[in-house]
Amino acid sequence: MNDPAQVQVDRSHGLMALLAKGLIESSVQRTASSLGDRRRYIGMSDIGRALECPRAAVGRKLFGNGDALTHRHDLPSLLGNQLLLQRGHWFEAGIAQVFRQQHLPVIEQLEVATSHHGVPIRAHLDFVFASAVGRPTVRILELKSCENIPSTLYSSYETQVYGQVGLLDAVWDQPAFGVHGETDRQGGSGLTFPQICREKFGVEMPAHPSEVDIEAWVLCLSMSDAKAFGPYLPDDTMLSLCLNKAKELWLKFDASKVSGGGLDGLETAQGFHPLCSWCEFNADCPKFDGLEQPQWSDTLDLLKDLKARQGELEVEISEIEEGLRSAYALCDVGGSWIDAGHHRFRVSAQNGRRTLNKEQLRLELMAVLGEEKADEIIARCESEGKPFDRLTVSRINKRS
Ligand code: SF4
Repeated sequence: MNDPAQVQVDRSHGLMALLAKGLIESSVQRTASSLGDRRRYIGMSDIGRALECPRAAVGRKLFGNGDALTHRHDLPSLLGNQLLLQRGHWFEAGIAQVFRQQHLPVIEQLEVATSHHGVPIRAHLDFVFASAVGRPTVRILELKSCENIPSTLYSSYETQVYGQVGLLDAVWDQPAFGVHGETDRQGGSGLTFPQICREKFGVEMPAHPSEVDIEAWVLCLSMSDAKAFGPYLPDDTMLSLCLNKAKELWLKFDASKVSGGGLDGLETAQGFHPLCSWCEFNADCPKFDGLEQPQWSDTLDLLKDLKARQGELEVEISEIEEGLRSAYALCDVGGSWIDAGHHRFRVSAQNGRRTLNKEQLRLELMAVLGEEKADEIIARCESEGKPFDRLTVSRINKRS
């Protein structure tokens, strides 16, 4: 007879597998319909990626964004990856809905297609607002979904948005604008920017961008926070950097195609790079060259499981502690202990932790002794902890 617990596990696994498969398929379809065949051009996000890691950027061009990765042995990992990758699209759909409800003159997924020294280049702009009221204005808004909101914007995002705003300004009066997949509707491809604004909103924009106030912004969104970075203005130097990087990447991509799709010899990201754990090409990346010692595999799996449980346990512990604090407050026992079976508990007020504000201390010392003396005293009082060995465990993403 089937073990009911095992049946339950199998059914739950089946549901997760179905969800993962659906997410992968919808991602492939969405990418094809909104971005077309990404092997045929260099996009702005490719340029940002190439600045961080040329090897990963060429790999993405050759093999796509890793949707074909097989982690059948590690379904939670596959699902986690997909949820992370697709969160950006869901944010975008939600924000688009907000702008539509407000009846704002916005073009979604505006495509700018051009070429530089024979290299096909395309930029896809999430949202572009255009207004001819008062001084004509154009605002580009690029959405980025993040686990945590960064304090400063990543340089790859900045490069991408400088490329977008620079390109819009540079090809303003060329038939370079369109909305992917909308060739039979209003705002098809091959229009100048003023033409697309006229077709979309009936707005008359100046023939030259120098008469227009153009800015780009990046809106970073996490599940519970948001932050806008900008403004980014058209800048010839930044645009040339983007275009030259595009050419370099195209040549490397071509060379890899000719060599049969290998990534050998391509430069990798230097030092610690947060995306290496998620990178689809990390399995054979030379950055991680080392020894093969499969006997540690079970230990590393166990460590990963324990760390996952550690997080769950911390949440559970804090919920129970909070419950006991509330129960104690409701009992109103005036600071006495409460006995409960083998344990007793009470809640008492504690002084807050005392800390020293180093910057404030420096300012106070500076006011009395001057900057040089203040820095000298601070330096004398500072000490460095002993060096320690840090263990880093990183996931290997095996390709099919
Ligand atoms: S693992 Fe890191 S260094 Fe290697 S290709 Fe991927 S992003 Fe680049």
